[in-house]
Amino acid sequence: MNGTQGGAPVIQLENASFGYADRRVLSGVTLSVEPGEVVAVLGPNGSGKSTLVRGLLGLTERLGGTVRLFGEPADKFDQHWRIGYVPQRHTLSASVRATVREIVAVGRLTRHKWWKPFWHKATDSAIVDRELEVVGLADRAGTDVATLSGGQQRRVLIARALASEPDVLLMDEPTAGVDTANQEVLAQVLAKLAARGTTMLIVTHELEALEDVVTRIVVVRAGRIGFDGTPQEFHSGEDHTRADHHNGHHHDDELDPDHHPDPGRHPLPGAPGAGP
Ligand code: ADP
Repeated sequence: MNGTQGGAPVIQLENASFGYADRRVLSGVTLSVEPGEVVAVLGPNGSGKSTLVRGLLGLTERLGGTVRLFGEPADKFDQHWRIGYVPQRHTLSASVRATVREIVAVGRLTRHKWWKPFWHKATDSAIVDRELEVVGLADRAGTDVATLSGGQQRRVLIARALASEPDVLLMDEPTAGVDTANQEVLAQVLAKLAARGTTMLIVTHELEALEDVVTRIVVVRAGRIGFDGTPQEFHSGEDHTRADHHNGHHHDDELDPDHHPDPGRHPLPGAPGAGP
């Protein structure tokens, strides 16, 4: 990982709105992610979590406000390799005929100018090996990806994102649809990345699996930031003001119970039983 220059926030949104064509999905998002933070983005289905991540990548329309990446206005930002992206519920098609190693090697492409030969440095190879090691798939390097489980494929995609040596990893539900054993492995992978100082923004419904890694929680609800605080504040429900503070609106009362593993244990501030 390369450090951020000048200590600028990795991600900085100021009253940003995102949507699709003429449809506004997220409004008034003010959010700043500092180097080394591991932010879990929670919220019910359809609230706009993926839109937030895709908005950061310029994949959805920005309908207002500003987005800065590493201190640069998003429109001018051109070091795309600095942002690693693991898309939502993505598995590799059974028709892809490639080895695990080949898929991860694709991550190196963003580090090379198109007119230069791609596989031109021994370091490319070394970095691919290193990231395969990080995600625990070094022994599967030569395996056809189509034969791997969904959880293993998710790890391949994380390794592919890491291979570009990004300064921040954006992950959209990395543990969704993955069996418990693989969820644990994924949580260990994320813990390893956190330990090496990787800034991460992780959309998830499985906060419990990532509990030891997450340093901050943001809740998106109905197209707005409903809560933004530390895990302690999230669990204790003591902070009723922080999101209002940052975003000038009220937080929401509860998470969608369908997608919260245990709403009784993790009430949002203001929810019944959430403390003072
Ligand atoms: P979440 O990730 O929280 O489940 P999304 O960001 O995927 O929510 O979706 C937020 C809203 O945006 C939903 O109403 C969804 O239908 C809409 N939406 C998502 N993707 C598109 C798209 N490509 N075109 C139009 N609307 C979309």
